[in-house]
Amino acid sequence: MALLLAVLCLALPLTHAAPVVDQPPPSLYNQTTDVGIAVLTAASFNQTLFPPDAEGAAPATGPLIWFVQFYNSWCGHCQRFAPTFKSLANHTLAWTRHLRLAVMDCALRDHAPLCNHYNVQSFPTMHFLPPHTPRDGPPRGEAYVGPHTEAGTYHGILDYVEKTGFPAECAALPPGALDAQWEGVKETQMALVVEAAGEDQGKDVVLSVLGQTPQLAVRRATSVNAALVASLDSGQSANGLWFISKSGEKKKHQFAVKDPKVHDYVAAIFAEDDRLAASQNLPALARTPVPYAQATARPTPAGTTSKDAPAKPHIAAPLRPLNMTDLHSALVYLFSMEINSHSHIAGADLAALHLFTGLLDDLIPFPSPVYNAVQKLRQTLQSTDQTEAASIINLLKETGLDVEHAPLQWANCQGSQSGKRGYPCALWQLFHTLTLRYYEKNRENAEANALAKESGVLRGIFGLVGRFFSCSECRDNFMREANALSSQTEVLSPRNAVLWLWRVHNGVNKRLAGDVTEDDNYPKQQFPPATLCPGCRDADGQWREDEVLQFLRAFYAVHGNAEAQATGS
Ligand SMILES: Cc1cc2nc3c(=O)[nH]c(=O)nc-3n(C[C@H](O)[C@H](O)[C@H](O)COP(=O)(O)OP(=O)(O)OC[C@H]3O[C@@H](n4cnc5c(N)ncnc54)[C@H](O)[C@@H]3O)c2cc1C
Repeated sequence: MALLLAVLCLALPLTHAAPVVDQPPPSLYNQTTDVGIAVLTAASFNQTLFPPDAEGAAPATGPLIWFVQFYNSWCGHCQRFAPTFKSLANHTLAWTRHLRLAVMDCALRDHAPLCNHYNVQSFPTMHFLPPHTPRDGPPRGEAYVGPHTEAGTYHGILDYVEKTGFPAECAALPPGALDAQWEGVKETQMALVVEAAGEDQGKDVVLSVLGQTPQLAVRRATSVNAALVASLDSGQSANGLWFISKSGEKKKHQFAVKDPKVHDYVAAIFAEDDRLAASQNLPALARTPVPYAQATARPTPAGTTSKDAPAKPHIAAPLRPLNMTDLHSALVYLFSMEINSHSHIAGADLAALHLFTGLLDDLIPFPSPVYNAVQKLRQTLQSTDQTEAASIINLLKETGLDVEHAPLQWANCQGSQSGKRGYPCALWQLFHTLTLRYYEKNRENAEANALAKESGVLRGIFGLVGRFFSCSECRDNFMREANALSSQTEVLSPRNAVLWLWRVHNGVNKRLAGDVTEDDNYPKQQFPPATLCPGCRDADGQWREDEVLQFLRAFYAVHGNAEAQATGS
């Protein structure tokens, strides 16, 4: 009791801090400084990707591939991935005649319709649009499904180039001797890159020079093409760069370096093209230099922290007990952005949403308009076996919760920097509040099981995260813990559910401490810190779980006027 009173005394004056309406988070990308990346907005999306072509022609992408990253500026993994994507853009700058990179921030509500059109349900989602993709109709192209690393995306793009056969010159020459390879080639000279099967360097070289060598055709071959290798008659490895002419001359280029890189190939091909132009008294082509040197900047690998970076000046801000404003905005964002991105909802998705809505209805004392909307939604989901996200949004609106236009306001989850905290912070708070309200309601009930399929509070949270939480890394990490728990036991008491979630959240805090995504004023720490709960640890620093439970009950209790808090008045 003394502990409860201590927490309340500490807390109450602070819960009335004015909520702040979230400013649009700063984009993770900058159109001016991030060379090689088109930063798309609702206004520029169609104009950039699908410019109107010939008069009267339907808008479509041009003769090039677009690689579009749909990201979310509050998602930690997207924040950590941004330097990698910028480095990829730098690395692929020379390919822009044939392939371009773009980004779209799906955290912005006016971007949601476009993100939804591309079925973006987890972040980041990277999507290829092949050449001449029409703007209208169902989305075309395919998602990139490889690792979120620079090497992964680089090879993924080159695989896609090969698969789509665009540009055709990137495909390996068909089996056959040298003579047969001139069919359809208008130039009389050719730069030929020969490499082992499975190598990607030749595709990179072709993409980098194609269209910029008027005197030279550029092709690529692999050394499995035995007839071609035999006709090169090199007397040594055929792998490397060859200059050949239709009249039968062939010369293997001797690089000055032992292990030539793409830029060495490019320089040699451009030099040969210029030499051929000069031999015919033609001017050399003016080419825009590509800043290859910049491509060496390595990003922080995904999943690591910036612990080696100089320590940030942390000025720890006070952590305040629950404020209904944060829960209300979590709900608004959850429905308007996360649920809304799933056009059709049926089967296990519907069951998960129904269970979670039931928990909200049973456990959270939302003010009446929100409460009515949640209750009505619960009833509707109960009596249907499929629905559309748009119907859910309309139903909520008709019952007083207009999630598409309600302001997103953060109180305790307001970051000290725009784009930090906000939704993921409020979602944690919503989950903790649910487990604690479940505990308050069921602590005398020996039958209560937080993992029960139809009614368990953790089962509801697992369903929501597993099926609707769009931060892919957060979801995967959390569901790994959830699955480990479910494989150990089928029954969990309300008390242990509260403590399980508290422990898992502390595991995330530990992993993210010092990470680039951290808000400078809210360092990730083991919660509750001793300043908030001196009695929560024993003399050896070990947690005293009974004390932690009592502390969490006070911290996540709803005090005062929930309605006034939720509306920020
Ligand atoms: C389910 C889930 C999984 C996530 N997984 C990842 C991930 O894998 N990688 C990633 O980069 N980001 C992840 N995130 C986001 C990340 O955990 C933070 O939410 C985000 O970085 C914002 O941090 P914050 O400083 O606002 O504090 P948060 O960690 O969001 O905490 C919000 C508030 O909850 C309280 N709190 C803190 N710890 C506890 C605790 N142990 N028990 C009870 N209350 C506590 C404090 O008052 C704190 O201010 C996840 C978010 C969620 C909701």
